[in-house]
Amino acid sequence: MNFEKYIRDINDFPKKGIVFKDITPLLGDAKAFEACADHLSSLVHTPIDKVVAIESRGFFFGGIIAQKLNAGFVPVRKKGKLPYDVLEVTYELEYGKDVLQIHKDAIQKGEKVVIHDDILATGGTAKAVCELVESLGGEIIQCNFIAILEFLKGREKIEYPIKSLLSY
Ligand code: 5GP
Repeated sequence: MNFEKYIRDINDFPKKGIVFKDITPLLGDAKAFEACADHLSSLVHTPIDKVVAIESRGFFFGGIIAQKLNAGFVPVRKKGKLPYDVLEVTYELEYGKDVLQIHKDAIQKGEKVVIHDDILATGGTAKAVCELVESLGGEIIQCNFIAILEFLKGREKIEYPIKSLLSY
């Protein structure tokens, strides 16, 4: 399936000068949504224990990928959203910083983990999530995305295998 036609460019969102890849047309088409979930799952070739997905757009497919791969689902969320004991990481944004959290008991030492998000842009978010998983002792098998914005060079920040359906 040509997934590219279900992802549209939105100029000047969320700020002037940024061209945002909007995946909502992909979510809104039943066949495209299903095919995308199938393809994202098929990028993982070894048995895994957990899919770790990033709030909020990583959640759309993260849970489905976990189910298809017979793995548990672990949410990484913005500060203050997870109810139990958390581990957190602070990471740089273009302007300022942000904090992501994971439950301390979400991953056991040695568990095999796939990290999923919708888009890899500068790589700051995915790198921060890799640090959380590493701190809990998880073994990162792959970072998995719908699309990579190659021109932002996020790959250079990630030291694990990266797979995606599309690259721009
Ligand atoms: P990064 O940390 O790699 O710069 O940004 C990746 C994060 O920001 C992801 O969680 C992703 O959801 C979001 N993001 C950045 N740019 C875009 C974009 O163009 N489209 C979408 N859908 N998400 C984006």
